[in-house]
Amino acid sequence: MSAPVVAHTRAEFADARAKLDGSVAVVMTMGALHEGHATLIREARAANDNVIVTIFLNPLQFAAGEDLSRYPRTLTSDLEICEREGADLVFAPSPDVVYPDGEPGVRISAGPLGTVLEGASRPGHFDGMLTVVNKLLNIVGPTRAYYGQKDAQQLLLIKRMARDLDMPVEIVGVPTVREHDGLALSSRNVYLSEHDREVALCLSKALKAGEAARNSGPAAVRRAAREVLVHEPLALVDYLVLVDPVTLEQVPEYFRGEALLAVAAKVGTTRLIDNIPLVIGGDR
Ligand code: AMP
Repeated sequence: MSAPVVAHTRAEFADARAKLDGSVAVVMTMGALHEGHATLIREARAANDNVIVTIFLNPLQFAAGEDLSRYPRTLTSDLEICEREGADLVFAPSPDVVYPDGEPGVRISAGPLGTVLEGASRPGHFDGMLTVVNKLLNIVGPTRAYYGQKDAQQLLLIKRMARDLDMPVEIVGVPTVREHDGLALSSRNVYLSEHDREVALCLSKALKAGEAARNSGPAAVRRAAREVLVHEPLALVDYLVLVDPVTLEQVPEYFRGEALLAVAAKVGTTRLIDNIPLVIGGDR
């Protein structure tokens, strides 16, 4: 596998991008790449002529007091993963390359879907995320863009943006990659002490317990998941919800069909999120 071209400036990127023929996939990341990111690159590689990875820690989607300053930066090993997975081109710009005029005055608004769940805890986060995703899509000009189901609300909002704004790109979702014990891979897992990591397992365990109750209706799913979380007082739960995957509204008791069980909790100093798509079945 030959090493990807690495572009740090817009000119370097445009030069390398112009040499690519055929379909182009993009995988957008904030760096600190792990097997979840590698899986996205692999899926992109399997279905497209060219794969571009962006590595950009977007200040616009971090509020004051969040973890921007301590977020792991591991460019050398990120590039090794990009090479191993067969990426053709990596765009790793600094903030002043992406925002040459400083913070953008005009931004994408996530609308009502951006104010619930993660948006309720992180005001402005989704506007900042969609703004940079829009910019990177404009810079890259891909056929397809790949995002993880791990960030379900982000994936939903990017799909809505592409549809609502008639953007000429296909958005592809990729299932969450987990450790052998169920913990969802995340760049933020490096913040977890050994003990925190044990505590953090309650998130995926709660989701699994909820999933196991899917044929008994929404209340049973919520109860089963909550039961796991209450036994782990060191996980400070922000939300545990069973929602419609399109509207993000809590599903009523008579609901049957596709739903999303999602959880967010603080473990030690780290805010973790996880979710599982499930089909609520059984008799009404
Ligand atoms: P991030 O670098 O955390 O912004 O993530 C970049 C992309 O990788 C996003 O589309 C994430 O949803 C995706 N991603 C992160 N963790 C995972 C995971 N464990 N499984 C699948 N995709 C993931």
